[in-house]
Amino acid sequence: MPRIARTSIDQVQAAADMVEIVGQYTDLRKAGANYSGRCPFHEERTPSFSVNPTEKLYYCFGCGAGGNLFGFVQEKESLDFAAAVEYLADRYGIALEYEETSARGDAERRRKERLRSLLEQATAYYERVLADAGAAAEARAYLAGRGLGEEVCRQFRLGFSLPGWDKLRDAARARKFTDQDLLDAGLVVPGKQGRPYDRFRGRIMFPLADDRGRTLGFGARTMGDEKPKYLNSPETPLYHKSEAVFGLHAAKAAAAREDRVYVVEGYTDVLALVQAGVHNAVASMGTALTEQQLGRLARVTRNLYLCFDADTAGIGAMSRALTLGRKMGLSLHVVRVPDGLDPADYVLAGAGGDGFRALADDAQTLLQFHVRLALADHDLDKPDGRARAFAQLRGVLSEAATPIERDEELRHIADRLQLSAESVRYLLAGSGRSVEGGEAATEGRREPPQGGGRAGAIGGVHELEVRFLAGCLAQPAKGRAVLAGIDESFFATRETRDALGSVKERLELDGPGNTVRAEDAGVAADSGEVLAEIVVRAGREHFTANVVDELFLRLQEAQVGRLIARLKLTVQNDATGRQSKELASLQTAGRRLRDAIRAVPVDEEPHEG
Ligand SMILES: [Zn+2]
Repeated sequence: MPRIARTSIDQVQAAADMVEIVGQYTDLRKAGANYSGRCPFHEERTPSFSVNPTEKLYYCFGCGAGGNLFGFVQEKESLDFAAAVEYLADRYGIALEYEETSARGDAERRRKERLRSLLEQATAYYERVLADAGAAAEARAYLAGRGLGEEVCRQFRLGFSLPGWDKLRDAARARKFTDQDLLDAGLVVPGKQGRPYDRFRGRIMFPLADDRGRTLGFGARTMGDEKPKYLNSPETPLYHKSEAVFGLHAAKAAAAREDRVYVVEGYTDVLALVQAGVHNAVASMGTALTEQQLGRLARVTRNLYLCFDADTAGIGAMSRALTLGRKMGLSLHVVRVPDGLDPADYVLAGAGGDGFRALADDAQTLLQFHVRLALADHDLDKPDGRARAFAQLRGVLSEAATPIERDEELRHIADRLQLSAESVRYLLAGSGRSVEGGEAATEGRREPPQGGGRAGAIGGVHELEVRFLAGCLAQPAKGRAVLAGIDESFFATRETRDALGSVKERLELDGPGNTVRAEDAGVAADSGEVLAEIVVRAGREHFTANVVDELFLRLQEAQVGRLIARLKLTVQNDATGRQSKELASLQTAGRRLRDAIRAVPVDEEPHEG
């Protein structure tokens, strides 16, 4: 991957208007040095979201989302760092330069650009053919017959490939593309005697795009009996089947807003849903969802609603996707469309978008899906059928996310197996020492201690440290004076330790530089968020020199408190008495600090305004 040159990143950072970028997602109003508005990352009625327009940082006091310009674009547009820089460069008319890591890398990048250009022109060509060509009349009739209007077909840039062996090849060669270009883009098939011919002939063309809507390849559907019914682009430098998700670029805004995405099987299912107003729908390429596909979806939302055919292949595929997604920490649900209809037929048959959403509200969880599957696999009217179902369910129940969910399913199982809930629980508890049960027990134990406990304990100090650093920025003279004497070890949490350097830089304590470094965006999301919080709070809260003094003293007190606590753990085992003396002197220091805190003059509270 070629790296974008640092100078280019700086140019983009300088040119971009943070208020304009954020303003696309929420209304901002000037508030002191900052702008504020309702948070574009969580639902709220009163504004708790702030933007610092000069540093180009944002922070939400409601949900804690925060970061810099690039981080914001990454989040809202679901792009990686390089793509976010490219997105902004496009918008502000900046020609990016790439670090020439090697001549070969450079050539490869130019090669990909050429293939992108070819694929874009091929997309436009197929679109024109579908719209105008007499030979495409049948395709137009087919789409209309499926209830798909012209508007939605245009939105997804549907096209048609003419029957014939070199229609696209001739059109591309007239535009100075070579056979090698066409081969590399997967648009032709190498023929005998070195004469390649069109890969797609007489098919409806569905462009498969990247996150920015640029065509990488095609899925092509026949209208007749030719095999295969669906023909896709082969693997190319740009198109990788394992990553392809149809419609993701169009769905991602709605998917992020509703915090869920519907994954269906067919291209036309996506089109029908979008036409019915369900914009957060995408199609998997074939039924087996890969880890890469799930990863792309996870960058937009962690709530996936799978809506596959209830045939054996569909159920097997969903089952695998559910298990894989669960490992990736995704929340997966299964939407069952009644009467064996596919989603397109269901919405077009009159249920509409609202009908589909209602189905989704009744979606099954992973556990419910697998329990019902296990029950359906066996003849529950016979004792041995019930026994076999029971054996299968022992493993399935270990998938429960919570004890409540597990209990609910236990009741359902008891009902179906004609057992009392108590005896089901008894039997399952007996199986708990088997392989599956053991795994479940470990997973159950892992969750709770990480939750509230540790974060809660350091929350107070962390808040103090963030306020202190914000105060130092707001009162630069005082900030410089107090920060000159301390280093990272003064802080209790990693995020504030990492942020200290940037705060010092801003106060010109450690060399020059007042720009946000590019690294702040792509990596270190934690410290990036904290830095954004510090900068935004500096511009928003009222700090006086006295407040900074007091915060400084409180932090010293907290630090002394930590040292005392640590010493108390070991002091009994120390025969030399050195630790007792140290403890006593620390306790004296702690008392002095508390006195000093009380002695800090209290400022008049200014009215918020
Ligand atoms: Zn928020």
